[in-house]
Amino acid sequence: MNFADLGLSEELLRAIGDSGYDTPTPIQKGTIPSALMGRDLIGIAQTGTGKTASFVLPMIDILHHGRSRARMPRSLILEPTRELAAQVAENFEKYGKYHKLSMALLIGGVQMGDQVKALEKGVDVLIATPGRLMDLFGRGKILLNGCQLLVIDEADRMLDMGFIPDIEEICSRLPKERQTLLFSATMPPPIQKLASKFLNDPKRIEVARPATANVNIEQRLILTRSDKKRDVLRDVLRHNEVKNAIIFSNRKTTVRDLYTSLKRSGFAVGQIHGDMEQAARIAEFDRFKQDEINILVASDVAARGLDVKGVSHVINFDVPWQPDDYIHRIGRTGRAGATGIAITLATKEDAEAVAGIEKLIGMPIPRAEGQEAIAEPTSEETKPEPKRQSSRTRSRAAGSASPERTRPVDESPPPVAVAVQERSAVEAEPADAGEWNGPLPSFLSVSLS
Ligand code: AMP
Repeated sequence: MNFADLGLSEELLRAIGDSGYDTPTPIQKGTIPSALMGRDLIGIAQTGTGKTASFVLPMIDILHHGRSRARMPRSLILEPTRELAAQVAENFEKYGKYHKLSMALLIGGVQMGDQVKALEKGVDVLIATPGRLMDLFGRGKILLNGCQLLVIDEADRMLDMGFIPDIEEICSRLPKERQTLLFSATMPPPIQKLASKFLNDPKRIEVARPATANVNIEQRLILTRSDKKRDVLRDVLRHNEVKNAIIFSNRKTTVRDLYTSLKRSGFAVGQIHGDMEQAARIAEFDRFKQDEINILVASDVAARGLDVKGVSHVINFDVPWQPDDYIHRIGRTGRAGATGIAITLATKEDAEAVAGIEKLIGMPIPRAEGQEAIAEPTSEETKPEPKRQSSRTRSRAAGSASPERTRPVDESPPPVAVAVQERSAVEAEPADAGEWNGPLPSFLSVSLS
């Protein structure tokens, strides 16, 4: 099947051809014909599957006829982050170049004036983050009753970010007679509830997770301890033919600290996190895209969906708290048929998070050489311990993850191989147990390619 079989207009086929794509991806095949027929859809897919084009393409043809009116956008796309919103806008420009559709971007962190001006003129497509949209709606700058088509993108991420009440509010302000397309990588119960409340007899299209299906990404786990992570990271960056790398960490403060420390060590590094102004985030991202820097330290929110071709390495400086984030993070490499390497640094405290990820991806993450057989229980672990806390409670007590962000993902015990990081050579283990206390391990020189 090619794009011409999907029912798209000649102008669109030309724009798609200009982009260099000839075959639709599975989510595009599943979505585009039904969207063109006006059906509501649930697309279970994530970034990397071609899902943006799966709603942008039909929208362009659907909106081709008709005229916009001041302050009354004809369609609305909700995105969880400014970067994703900006990327959707780029897709509209790319595929809509032979159409005359107007578009406005409503995102936080940039001056509201121009956004309001664009709205006043009337737009066919409004791409917005929920917070900024609600803000302008509250000030009476937007009327949503002319909006015939709604896209809720990355719904599960919206849930994580606490946007669901805003989305419900927005949905209830839109005309009842409308088309709604909802995309989500997973369908947790609150998203299912949202879908059943606001979608009308939706067609459901599910595509394979790119990360689990993507054999182009070589995954590795390096077991270490917290106070050695930076050394391990520097070693990985220096010794593994890293062309360029995105390094993820769970906290903004860690992003800042890592950025400073890598810069001090002489790396060409940039940073991107949620506290930065939008303009600074975009500038930093552009520097990375244009190879001015080859290392970008990022937080999940800022980096969600970022699309850069040819990222050779993704490094998880911290194991993500949520398994889905692992898939999103490593999906920044191995894109568009290229190969990539995803390296995760894990400590003993991460056992539960790693187990959750492995359950989700359906396979163990291969350990660096020499680390496979380190699962021997320590004497401490074999001691009878009638009142032992669960591993979840212990990891909270240790402060390795904030309780509100840790979601229960796996009731089964973590695989033994990640439960501990000790080696038999470790004699002087500290009483708080946990971290390996010997010299820097030899696995640091392991080849990960
Ligand atoms: P997305 O899932 O929307 O983030 O898209 C992931 C990447 O796939 C982007 O770089 C798109 O430009 C690219 N892409 C979208 N559709 C196709 C296609 N049919 N063939 C090849 N690449 C595509």
